[in-house]
Amino acid sequence: MLRDRFGRSIDYLRLSVTDRCDLRCSYCIPKGFKNFEEPANWLGFAEIQRVVAAFARLGCHRIRLTGGEPLLRRNLPELIGMLASLPGVDDLSLSTNGTQLATQAGALKAAGLQRLNVSLDSLRRDCVASISGSDSLQQVLQGLSVARDAGFASIKINMVPLAGINDRDIDAMLAYCKAHGFILRLIEAMPMGHTGQQADGLDLSQLLSSLSQRHGLTPSAVSLGGGPARYWQSQDGSCTLGLITPMSQHFCASCNRVRLSVDGTLYMCLGQEEKLELRPLLRAGCSDAELEAAIRTAIELKPERHEFQQQPQQIMRFMSMTGG
Ligand code: SAM
Repeated sequence: MLRDRFGRSIDYLRLSVTDRCDLRCSYCIPKGFKNFEEPANWLGFAEIQRVVAAFARLGCHRIRLTGGEPLLRRNLPELIGMLASLPGVDDLSLSTNGTQLATQAGALKAAGLQRLNVSLDSLRRDCVASISGSDSLQQVLQGLSVARDAGFASIKINMVPLAGINDRDIDAMLAYCKAHGFILRLIEAMPMGHTGQQADGLDLSQLLSSLSQRHGLTPSAVSLGGGPARYWQSQDGSCTLGLITPMSQHFCASCNRVRLSVDGTLYMCLGQEEKLELRPLLRAGCSDAELEAAIRTAIELKPERHEFQQQPQQIMRFMSMTGG
């Protein structure tokens, strides 16, 4: 029902509930950064619920909570319950760095959260500490184990391989995921903000043939969650690897998503500036029809593609500002 100028249907909303994070990953939030959004500008739970309800009425049935680190938003399970109960919200998922997962996984599951992605860049304690600025590996591993026990199935682990930093950890990450029933996804670093622009990300398309040979992986038709990842699997299905290649092989032609930042700005593309602010409308008491019309107007603005390769200096927002 939501279709953009290029014929793409938009059925996926990524929703940032905070731009703050307890980590400072080298390719994301700069160390010492303080310019976070003022709490007065955060959408409240009732406002978020209204926007998500409007999206759901317009045929956007898949919602992912993200940030910043979404588990830092106080009372998040309450929001999850509010969104899970909305008619038309069929798939409710969350991306987290996992540091708070051990204490929150049970409440998130009970509130109606269906799926979980956890970011983790290495299994080496010093490497995690050096990338993320925090000695957090044990907390994240514990969080993953608690989440699995809480009933989350097919947890995906997102890793951003960086040349000379954690690229040698990919095999160990794959073995760990296989042993624990998780799905490893490798993501190419994107030039968002000066942190992303300085990151020395790997070209995953080039890495693929040696990786798939070493682990006996063949291309798989599975579509896990309807995102841009392409998957490879071992013959017995015990090992699944996803690749997300916005740099070496972009997937803009099938882009099905928009992003709502914590202050209620709808961003049409990670790599472009087109946006529409919903907060002023919401706070001026707009009707549901006006809200839906604004969302349709925003979708009209969606650009054809990002230009990360052509204009890598273009986007000064780092990932956590838009909502990763
Ligand atoms: N805090 C949550 C997490 O860690 O998953 C959600 C937000 S985080 C911004 C979402 C994802 O974006 C993480 O997997 C992170 O590694 C990734 N990310 C951040 N900056 C990136 C960049 N410049 N290029 C590629 N991925 C990036």
